[in-house]
Amino acid sequence: GQRLAGKRALVTAAGQGIGRASALAMAAEGAQVFATDVNAAALADLADANQGQIEVFELDAMDDASIREGVARAAPDVLFNCAGFVHHGSVLEASDADWDFAFSLNVRSMWRTMRAAIPGMVERGGGSIVNMSSACSSVIGAPNRFIYGTTKAAVIGMTKSVAVDFIRQGVRCNCICPGTVESPSWHERVKALGEEMGSYEAALEAFVSRQPMGRVARAEEIAALVVYLASDESGFTTGQPHVIDGGWSG
Ligand code: NAD
Repeated sequence: GQRLAGKRALVTAAGQGIGRASALAMAAEGAQVFATDVNAAALADLADANQGQIEVFELDAMDDASIREGVARAAPDVLFNCAGFVHHGSVLEASDADWDFAFSLNVRSMWRTMRAAIPGMVERGGGSIVNMSSACSSVIGAPNRFIYGTTKAAVIGMTKSVAVDFIRQGVRCNCICPGTVESPSWHERVKALGEEMGSYEAALEAFVSRQPMGRVARAEEIAALVVYLASDESGFTTGQPHVIDGGWSG
């Protein structure tokens, strides 16, 4: 299909996982995609993936200068803020440094990309912003996700605020709240829990069994929701957390 024909889409953290799958899915729907990541090496093979539909460059979502440069280059109609980090631990196992890092990457980065991108969107008559939250947020609590869930709840609040302020200027702002999704960093989390539990299989079972469908999501299943929210098909939705969690919070 060509559901995103004529749109320019900027994606952060497109090197792997959901960001990568979304960059590919949006390019397949005809968008000119700007796939970015702090790890430029992870982007290398994306550039050849869709006959020039994907342009790749390094963008550090923790660095305001890098964000401003990237937004100026992409002039996006669609902004997918995907960069984020999962801190492991309860309220008692969170350090000040962990807190500051997570809020910088998971929340402040999105504020900065939005503040850089929105004036251009308004000038061009509108745009669609998709922020990465999580089912683990204000939707549902998950074990050992104290800092993570707190940052992802903040993303929902930030999304609603931006949606309200720019609704009359044609800029929509939604966020997505996935359950557990198979990705390189998820595999690392399973491995780490496996070491804690003394068994990789037990850790895998713990992650999978909390998903009522008995499986975790594929990144492509989340990318399909990103495409919908990026496209004009979703023109009547803004300010919403879109939960896509295999029934976890249901
Ligand atoms: P991932 O964690 O495997 O990959 C993350 C990517 O982010 C990497 O390519 C990394 O280089 C990049 N990155 C790290 N720091 C960056 C920075 N400062 N600037 C730009 N890029 C940076 O991918 P994932 O698991 O698909 O997670 C992507 C997003 O989805 C995160 O925000 C995560 O919290 C969220 N999420 C993931 C799951 C899941 O189960 N995997 C569930 C819900 C939400």
